[in-house]
Amino acid sequence: MEKQPNQPSMHDELDEETLFIVSQTFKALSEPTRIRILHLLSEQECSVNQIAEKLSLLQSTVSHQLRFLKNLRLVKYRREGTTFYYSHDDEHVMNVLEQTIDHARHT
Ligand SMILES: [Zn+2]
Repeated sequence: MEKQPNQPSMHDELDEETLFIVSQTFKALSEPTRIRILHLLSEQECSVNQIAEKLSLLQSTVSHQLRFLKNLRLVKYRREGTTFYYSHDDEHVMNVLEQTIDHARHT
């Protein structure tokens, strides 16, 4: 089959920025607390309090991890009065997470 021009080859080199973002993304998914928070947010929007309560974590731990995830744009928030409600912000990464959870469970 002839290769189409303008279509990226499967063997394109990854540029530095892409490599950096991919490795940061796996870093985000490499920590059990962050995995638990992201998995919870894949199912429902939650305030910091709700996350802390549902996962039995300190609020300071939750805030710290949410900041990390927000910087990578994996979560977003909306403000209602003085409460911040968090939800996931990237379908790709949530798919990777859910696929990996399925992988862990099928063995
Ligand atoms: Zn598998």
